[in-house]
Amino acid sequence: MPAMTGAIVVRETGGPEVLEWTEIELGKLGPGDVLLRHKAVGLNFIDVYQRTGLYPVELPFTPGMEGAGVVEEVGAEVTDLQAGDRVAYTGNGPAGAYAEARVLPASRLVPLPDVVDDSTAAGVMLKGCTVEYLIHRTFSVKAGHWVLLHAAAGGVGLIACQWLRAIGAKVIGTVGSETKAELAKRHGCTHVILYREEDVAARVRELTDGRGVDVVYDSVGKDTFEASLDSLCPRGMLVSFGNASGPVEPFSPLLLAQKGGLFVTRPALRHYYTDREESRAGCKAVLDAVVDGTITVPVHQTYPLRDVQQAHRELEARNTTGSTVFVID
Ligand code: NDP
Repeated sequence: MPAMTGAIVVRETGGPEVLEWTEIELGKLGPGDVLLRHKAVGLNFIDVYQRTGLYPVELPFTPGMEGAGVVEEVGAEVTDLQAGDRVAYTGNGPAGAYAEARVLPASRLVPLPDVVDDSTAAGVMLKGCTVEYLIHRTFSVKAGHWVLLHAAAGGVGLIACQWLRAIGAKVIGTVGSETKAELAKRHGCTHVILYREEDVAARVRELTDGRGVDVVYDSVGKDTFEASLDSLCPRGMLVSFGNASGPVEPFSPLLLAQKGGLFVTRPALRHYYTDREESRAGCKAVLDAVVDGTITVPVHQTYPLRDVQQAHRELEARNTTGSTVFVID
């Protein structure tokens, strides 16, 4: 009989109710693969996009892009990992992390330093790697740059606040509540805008003496696109990297000329974590930043994997701050 594992399966796209706890077959261990027993798995907004069908995935599938755990078995050609090693992985491969165990290529795994616990790892691998490429490689943020960061108290947001503060950038965060404003400030925002009460672009102009920011990091999408463009300085860059409020509507490039020769890019992690070398270097930069204290990982919500529906509901309802992690016994 094939080996089985407890896992979440999505058989048809839809609301949180399509997330079903069940038993699935573990894949066959190929020569370059590892059987990983998960200890903690991260929840990310991409899991919602895949569940709803916004990002199409072949059905049925097990969601989840990042995790941390212990190697249980290695394939015949795996030389750099062995049973008992603590490892983690980020979101540059197929989904499948919402499971007690999974088989995946050894090339996707990085060793975990002893001081980084499983929840911290699961709370930072995808979100931290996202921040790493966004602020160092999509736009290279330097000390003194003005940055506008939407959803500043979210999972990606609180990590970005801290890393941007360490660089010496001036960060304006947008948030949906006073509690989130406090959190964003504590993690490094220089200024916070409560977008439900204030006009974001007008407030950004005020804070920057009319100039606008050098770069906007926008994961909210549809609702914030226009304000993001209107907040930029001439030749500034809008990094549109998510769709929490829905995808951005089509627009004419002429708009970018009218608003100051602006740049817009729409990156995904897989464009910056393209091969083993790039991926290892990025993951190392993130884990180094955790170890040296540049970032602490705010894991503010934890759930057993069986409570996945509730976890998705809370994330979509904007009730979460920082990272959410599924802890697996
Ligand atoms: P967050 O913890 O940031 O949660 C989303 C937050 O977005 C909410 O808490 C809320 O904050 C804000 N928001 C604004 N409008 C809405 C809305 N209509 N519905 C829900 N939330 C809304 O999630 P993550 O940290 O997991 O991800 C942040 C974003 O980054 C996501 O859009 C994700 O897809 C994107 N991402 C992109 C990657 C890439 O490589 N392109 C990789 C990883 C993440 P508030 O209450 O303050 O408004």
